[in-house]
Amino acid sequence: TFDTAALRAKDAAHHLHPFTDTRSLNAAGARVIVRGEGVRIWDSEGQEIIDGMSGLWCVNLGYGRQDLVDAATHQMQVLPYYNAFFKTTTAPAAELSALLSEIAPPGFEHVFFTNSGSEGNDTVIRLVRRYWDLQGQPQRKILISRHNAYHGSTMAAASLGGMSGMHEQGDLPIPGITHIDQPYQLQHGKPGESEHDFGLRAAGWLEAKILELGADQVAAFIGEPVQGAGGVIIPPASYWPEIQRICDKYGILLVSDEVICGFGRLGHWFGCQHPHINTRPDLITFAKGVTSGYLPLGGVLVGERIARALIEQGGDFNHGFTYSGHPTCCAVAIANVQALRSEGVVQRVATDTAPYLARQFATLADHPLAGDAQSLGMVAGLVLYKDKAARTLFDADLGVGYRCRDNCFKNGVVMRAVEERMIIAPPLVMTHDEIDLMIARIRRSLDDTLAGLRA
Ligand code: PLP
Repeated sequence: TFDTAALRAKDAAHHLHPFTDTRSLNAAGARVIVRGEGVRIWDSEGQEIIDGMSGLWCVNLGYGRQDLVDAATHQMQVLPYYNAFFKTTTAPAAELSALLSEIAPPGFEHVFFTNSGSEGNDTVIRLVRRYWDLQGQPQRKILISRHNAYHGSTMAAASLGGMSGMHEQGDLPIPGITHIDQPYQLQHGKPGESEHDFGLRAAGWLEAKILELGADQVAAFIGEPVQGAGGVIIPPASYWPEIQRICDKYGILLVSDEVICGFGRLGHWFGCQHPHINTRPDLITFAKGVTSGYLPLGGVLVGERIARALIEQGGDFNHGFTYSGHPTCCAVAIANVQALRSEGVVQRVATDTAPYLARQFATLADHPLAGDAQSLGMVAGLVLYKDKAARTLFDADLGVGYRCRDNCFKNGVVMRAVEERMIIAPPLVMTHDEIDLMIARIRRSLDDTLAGLRA
């Protein structure tokens, strides 16, 4: 048993939470999460909650996996830690490197390990600039990203990201990073424009930016296959192939940030392999789902073109972390990937779980508050409309999304609010019954939110 009041008091007195208004958090008190099993978590007061967000998009296999615990325990007993700096490696780091190259798209034979997605994206910046140095084009330094993208919280990763709230704090972006608009039709579409045409027009913003900067100054374009933290923005099918064409045309490196979309979330090992995305990136950033969140691990899968330059042209790559390739984290990642594979989880997402989620989630669009309920793989989002027919949104000051999120928690489901959008990314192992229950709880929360607005 847990002394909830005492834990809340300690938390309020000493714990600064990420991305949280401490004053408003402390007024209500943090909810203390104490246990997880399958797709569910429990708080210290005994409330059961379906984790519609897989923690933070990471607990792909669900909670309570003894095989992952055993992998960590064994490795900690044998060799809890060793580094890869001294011409040394460890068995888990070597094995995981090989395993990742097996599941990665063709042409990805190498990996650089980090602890997080943010560090992975910092590493991307250094890798692409090193690549162009080695190519004798050191002036190619600029990375192009997108407004409202999320690529992490270090100074460089937050600069790559396009969150204005982050840029305002700390004078970001750092030099050499620029942004184009996101492919979000509700925000940027023109009246009467088809989804297909919008996708092509949105991709065209990349070409315009390249021409504005001069192609010989541009190192890379980075994007999430589906923007996650930005609100699960699913681009039109025409978008990514056009981005690929433009990158090819100007010889610009393409980076797929798969921190969310990797490890089966879209029903493929990596999001770029989904037919709706279908790109051939040069670098793939990963984290989160590689260990199902059981331990921190991230990294960059390095495609042939860059790996060959790094290896054949030689010299040190002056970059790395104490915990790059941490053996205990790698051991857990191996167990996680093996389980995803041997239990057919990724395949089942593609053929069964995601299509079922898509059908059930889409029914929420008949709720008077909700519209545009869409999903791709195991990410889904809908829009809260003030007037659905006229497609008008609520005044942001009303905080309707946050009210809905709080109602979701009360009704036993984690759903996240991002501006006008409500989003989920449930564990990949969710059963049909669990999906039904999750959708029912979301529907009840929409009802409660509407009732609250009318009161
Ligand atoms: N990239 C994407 C697409 C993410 O969603 C995140 C985290 O949510 C990151 C990078 C940063 O990863 P981390 O929080 O592990 O640093």
